[in-house]
Amino acid sequence: MKKVFITDFDGTMTRNEFYQLVLTDVLKAQVNQDDEWERYLKGEITHFEVLSYYFSLINIPEEKLIKLLEKMEFHPDTPHWIRELEKAGWHIVVASAGCDWYVRKILLQNGLKLELHTNHGIYSEKGGLHLTKPYDSPFYDENVGISKEKITQHYLCQCEEVVYAGDGKPDLNALLQIKPENRFARGWVATELTKMKEPFTSFDSWNDCAQSLLSRKTA
Ligand SMILES: [Mg+2]
Repeated sequence: MKKVFITDFDGTMTRNEFYQLVLTDVLKAQVNQDDEWERYLKGEITHFEVLSYYFSLINIPEEKLIKLLEKMEFHPDTPHWIRELEKAGWHIVVASAGCDWYVRKILLQNGLKLELHTNHGIYSEKGGLHLTKPYDSPFYDENVGISKEKITQHYLCQCEEVVYAGDGKPDLNALLQIKPENRFARGWVATELTKMKEPFTSFDSWNDCAQSLLSRKTA
C-alpha cells in the first residue's frame, strides 16, 4: 500500500454531523447543548463524554433514528469517486470520533466496505445509543476513543503518500502531521488552521478532495 487517504466521516464525508442532528431533531430543548459543548471545548469533559451524554438521551425508536441518517447527506456520487480513487491506487481509511452504529450503516447503504476505525455504538429502547470505547484498537485514545493522530502516524511510517481530510477538533493534530499539500479541511478545523497560518486545501464536498487527488495523477 503506497497511497492512503485518511478521512473523517461526520461533516467530511457527510454534509451534516450525526450529533448535531440528534440535538436539533431528537433532543431539541431537552438538553442545554451549548453548555455541554462549551465544557468540552474548555477541556472539562472529553469528546467521548459529550457524545455519550447526548446519545444516551435519545428517546425515539431505532427506525426513526435510522431515518434521521438521511439528513446527514452522504453524497450519492461518493461511491463512484471512491471506486475511482481505488482504481488509481488509493487505500481509503475512515477515522471517526462518532460510532459504528451509524457510520457502518451509511457505508453499507451506499455499497461501501472501507477500513473503519471508530467507537462502538449499540442502540437500546431504554438507553438510547450506548457508546463504548474501542479498547481493542491499536489506535485507542482515552479522550476521543480513536486517535486520528495515531492512525496518521501509523500510515506515515508505512506509506509514500498520506492524505487527510477533516472538519473538526479531533482532526486538527492529525492534519498538522500531514504535509500541507496533502491536507484537506473545512469547517472548524479550516478556521483553526487559518488562525495558525498553516496551509491546507479547503473543500466543500468530499468528492472535491477525490477529484483533486485524481487530477494529480493525470497532471
Ligand atoms: Mg467531523
